[in-house]
Amino acid sequence: MNACFLTLVIKKTVSNVCALKIPRKYFCNESVKVAGSTVGDVSNETSTLPDSESLLVVSFQALDRLTELYMSLTFLIIGHLSSQAGLNNTELATISVANHKETPMLDNLLLLPQEHGKNQVINKTIPQYDIAIVGGGLVGMALACFLASMPMTKQLNVAIIDSNPALGSSLHIKKKNPPDPRVSTVTPASISFLQDAGAWKYVEQNRHAYFNIMQVWDYTGLGYARYNARDVNKDFLGCVAENKVLHNALLSCVKDSDFKTTIYPTKLSSMTVNSSSLSTVKETASKELPSAQGHGAKLQLSDGSSIYAKLVVGADGGKSHVRELMGIKTIGWNYSQNAIICTVEHTSENACAWQRFLPTGPIALLPMSGKFSNIVWTMSPAESNNRKSITEEEFLEDVNYALDYGYGPHPSSSLSGTRDMLSLFKMDATISTSEFFEIPPKVTRLASERMVFPLSLRHANSYASKRVVLIGDAAHTVHPLAGQGVNLGFGDAYYLSRIISEGITLGTDIGEINLLKKYEKERKAANIMMMAILDGFQKACSIDFGPFNLLRAAAFHGANYISPLKRSIISYASGEHKLPIFL
Ligand SMILES: Cc1cc2nc3c(=O)[nH]c(=O)nc-3n(C[C@H](O)[C@H](O)[C@H](O)COP(=O)(O)OP(=O)(O)OC[C@H]3O[C@@H](n4cnc5c(N)ncnc54)[C@H](O)[C@@H]3O)c2cc1C
Repeated sequence: MNACFLTLVIKKTVSNVCALKIPRKYFCNESVKVAGSTVGDVSNETSTLPDSESLLVVSFQALDRLTELYMSLTFLIIGHLSSQAGLNNTELATISVANHKETPMLDNLLLLPQEHGKNQVINKTIPQYDIAIVGGGLVGMALACFLASMPMTKQLNVAIIDSNPALGSSLHIKKKNPPDPRVSTVTPASISFLQDAGAWKYVEQNRHAYFNIMQVWDYTGLGYARYNARDVNKDFLGCVAENKVLHNALLSCVKDSDFKTTIYPTKLSSMTVNSSSLSTVKETASKELPSAQGHGAKLQLSDGSSIYAKLVVGADGGKSHVRELMGIKTIGWNYSQNAIICTVEHTSENACAWQRFLPTGPIALLPMSGKFSNIVWTMSPAESNNRKSITEEEFLEDVNYALDYGYGPHPSSSLSGTRDMLSLFKMDATISTSEFFEIPPKVTRLASERMVFPLSLRHANSYASKRVVLIGDAAHTVHPLAGQGVNLGFGDAYYLSRIISEGITLGTDIGEINLLKKYEKERKAANIMMMAILDGFQKACSIDFGPFNLLRAAAFHGANYISPLKRSIISYASGEHKLPIFL
C-alpha cells in the first residue's frame, strides 16, 4: 500500500464521515456528555479526587474515547477498502432516525392477565412497574431470568411486553421431533451465566449438543485451523441449542421462580418519558400509586392499554421500536449477503463445529446431537433465493460440494515446514496442533425447511438515556459467522442486571442516567471490539486475490500453530477475555 493510496483512503474516509453525517458527539464518549449527568463528567470527578487518581480517571476516559474513535474509523476504513477493492459486498446504510409510526394493532394472541387486562383501561387505573422489558426474545427473557435470581432484584415487579405466542406457555419439546432450523451456539461464558441463574438445567433437559472440536478452513486449500477444548483445559468449546429450547428454558426459569412478572401479549406502540427523579425503589417498588403516575415512562401498548415503568428495557431486536422512539441513531451497513439456514441429517454422529470460508461467504455445519447438524450458509441474495427453491437433492449436492471438494482442494495436513518454522512454540504446543485436517460428514437428508435471513451490522450510538436502556440486537447486530450475536446480548443482560442490583443496594432510582451509563460504558467497549473483529474477519475472508489469499493462509497457520495466539482466540470466542491482542 503506497503513501498515495493511504492518503486517498484517509481523504475518502473523512468524506465518508461527512457524507454519513455522523454527529461529532459520536466521536466523543457520550457517557460524559449527558445533560444533567455528573457521571463521567471529568471536571466534576477530578475536583473530588486526589491528583494521581484524577489523572487515572482522565487517562481511562481518554483511552475509552480513543477506542471508540478507533473502532468507528476501523468500520469506515474497512468499508471503504472493500469498496475500493471492488468487493461490492458492503452497502453502507443511511444513518437516520425514522419518524415514529403507529404500530398496527395486533390481535391478542394470549389472554391478558386479569389484573392488568382491559378492565384496568376501563377503570383508568394504570399499572406501575419497576421495569418494563419490551421484547421477550432470548435476550429480554435472559434479563428477566438474571433479575429473578438475585436477592436485590427478585422482589422487583416486572412487565414483559411481546406478542410472540411462545411466551404464553411452556413448550413440551419432544426429543424425537426433528430439530428446528433456528439454533444458537452458546459460549462457555454465557452457559456459566445461565447456570448461575438456574436456566441452563432446562436446556440440558432438552436437545442440545456440546462440541469440543472446531475446524476452520478456506476454499483455497492453503490453510486450516483446528481448535480443541483441551487446548484450554476445558471440556467443551460451546454448545449448540435450538432457539426454542433456549427460549423455553429461560421462560421456565422465570415461571419456576417467585419473581413477579406480568406478560403483556401485545406490542409497544408509543412511549413518553418523564425525566423527573423517582424516590428509591425500596420505597415505591411494586405499588400502583396514582400519585406516581406522570413519573417514569408511560408505555402505550397496541391493545390500547398503558403501563408505567421506572425503567424501560428495549430488548426488541434489530428493528427496535424503543430505539426508534428514543431517537437513538445507529451506525452500520447491510452486508449484501443472506444466510440460508436449515437442519440436515448426515452419515455419522458429529461433535465438531465445522466452518469453511468460500468466495461467496462462510458455510458452517454445527452439531445438534446425533446425526443432526445445522447449516448456516452465507451467500448473495440471488444465490440464497435460488437455493431456497431448488429441490432437496440439488440443495444437498450443493451443500456437500461446499463442505468438501468444491471451489478448491482440501488443505494439506503434512505441514512440516510450517511446524518447523513455528518450532519456537513447540514446547508450549496445544493438543490440536498435531490434529490433521478432517472432511466433514456427508449430508444425506434435509430435516427442516430452509429459512433465509438478510445480514447486517448495526450499532446504536447510545445504549442508555434517562429511564431507557437497550440490550441485545436492539443495541447491536452482528454477522452470524462466529455465532456471537445472542452471546453479546446475554452479556448485556447479565451486566445490566448487576447494575440494577447495585443501584437498589445504594438506594438509587433504577432509571437514573448515571446508573444506566455505567452499563453502557462497560458493554459498549466489549461489543464494539467484537463487532470490529467479526466485520474485519468477514471482509478478510471475502477477498479472492492471490497475494491476499497467501496472507490469509499465513493467518490460518498462525492461528493453528502459535499456541499462545490459539489459546487467546479460544478464550475470546468463549466470551472469557476482553482483548485477545493484549493476552
Ligand atoms: C442466521 C443467523 C444465525 C445466528 N446464529 C447465532 C449463533 O449461533 N449464536 C449467537 O450467539 N447468535 C446467533 N445469531 C444472532 C442471534 O439470533 C440474535 O443476536 C438474537 O436472536 C437476538 O436476540 P434479541 O432477544 O436481542 O432479539 P430478537 O430475537 O429479535 O427478539 C426481539 C423480540 O422483541 C419482540 N418485539 C419486537 N418489536 C416489539 C414491539 N414493538 N413491542 C414488543 N415486542 C417487540 C419480538 O417479537 C421478539 O420476540 C444468529 C442470527 C442469524 C440471523
